[in-house]
Amino acid sequence: MARLVMKFGGTSVADPERIRAAAARVKREVTSGHEVAVVVSAMAGATNQLVGWCQALSPLHDAREYDAVVASGEQVTAGLMAIALQTAGVEARSWQGWQIPVYTDEAHGKARIERIAADTLLGRMRAGQVPVVTGFQGVAPNHRITTLGRGGSDTSAVALAAALGADRCDIYTDVEGVFTTDPRIAARARKLDRISYEEMLELASVGAKVLQTRSVELAMKERVRVQVLSSFTDAPGTLVVGEDEIVEKELVSGIAYSRDEAKVTVRRVPDRPGIAGLIFGALAEANVNVDMIVQNVAADGTTDMTFTVSRADFPRAEAVLQAAHDHIPFAEILTDPDVTKISVVGVGMRSHAGVAATMFRTLAERSINIQVISTSEIKVSVLVAAEYTELAVRALHTAYGLDG
Ligand code: ADP
Ligand code: ASP
Ligand code: MG
Repeated sequence: MARLVMKFGGTSVADPERIRAAAARVKREVTSGHEVAVVVSAMAGATNQLVGWCQALSPLHDAREYDAVVASGEQVTAGLMAIALQTAGVEARSWQGWQIPVYTDEAHGKARIERIAADTLLGRMRAGQVPVVTGFQGVAPNHRITTLGRGGSDTSAVALAAALGADRCDIYTDVEGVFTTDPRIAARARKLDRISYEEMLELASVGAKVLQTRSVELAMKERVRVQVLSSFTDAPGTLVVGEDEIVEKELVSGIAYSRDEAKVTVRRVPDRPGIAGLIFGALAEANVNVDMIVQNVAADGTTDMTFTVSRADFPRAEAVLQAAHDHIPFAEILTDPDVTKISVVGVGMRSHAGVAATMFRTLAERSINIQVISTSEIKVSVLVAAEYTELAVRALHTAYGLDG
């Protein structure tokens, strides 16, 4: 007998029929003698609609009210899943974040879970009941509802698995596991049987949205065994585990892309100490996260500074720089939102040279221009024009021998 957390994403609970099918999967585990807690996302599209309504009323809406609105999607599916389970003869009860409680900090819209008081749920599970928990939400010290950032139900599930001491956290989604790249844009993507926490973390952080980055961080820290699998087929999924459990280490484990980037170039800033501090200080103060950065070699005492920010922060970044023009001298600001960041990830890079060179050569052969480059110990990222996203991902997938 094992203790399991089963998380169902938006497409897996998109309508009553799918909720019924997901409930049948839960029943199967309960019938085989396992203790199960369920975590649900909102129905597919529901969160986007709720976010859209907030934006329609005010683009700069109050984050506390945004949370009050967007958390409602998960409350609907938790209740519906409990009804579906009860109808299937499984004893079940729904739980919202504040009822458990799932304690978070006060960063509305992107809150972090601090602690889950799991005693009551554990008691119910031992007595044979299945708790159905709303993903994506918690409660702040000010007693107001919070949400965990887009894709946050994955993090709810992993945090609950850690708090319950669960044997595994199963993430049911609309693909059969973690692939070498997004199977929706590369038909030759190959499903991985296993992936290390480190590689999954890097893939998630550069755009592979199959797991929220924070959920992988938490799983790695708390050593939660995570399995990603399909809620529509019975194919075996992908296990996310420690590096020691991976027998065959690949040089490159995956390719990811992020369309959530926008490029900003500040032209002809003085090439002297303190300028980068001024530019990025002003952006940090406005809570704008900067991702990739390049600075050109100076020829005439000035230099160009190019960087990327998320698309959501793009208008704010531009406004902040224009406002700072009196104390930061520059000629002009150039912007380009039509860019994609493409990343190659693999722990094998620690010990092998040439991964970046292969990437640059492959893109050059397709006449794809590289605008910005950044690297880490196990990752190389490049910024390219958005129109080349699919072509670049597929070409790199082939170049690193990942095609299935
Ligand atoms: P859910 O609603 O179940 O949380 P998401 O849409 O958040 O589902 O995540 C699943 C999606 O992640 C897939 O449909 C797929 O398009 C995308 N994805 C991106 N990169 C990968 C990858 N490397 N492996 C699998 N899926 C990926
Ligand atoms: N429903 C939320 C979202 O769409 C959380 C999640 O699905 O993980 O972002
Ligand atoms: Mg998701």
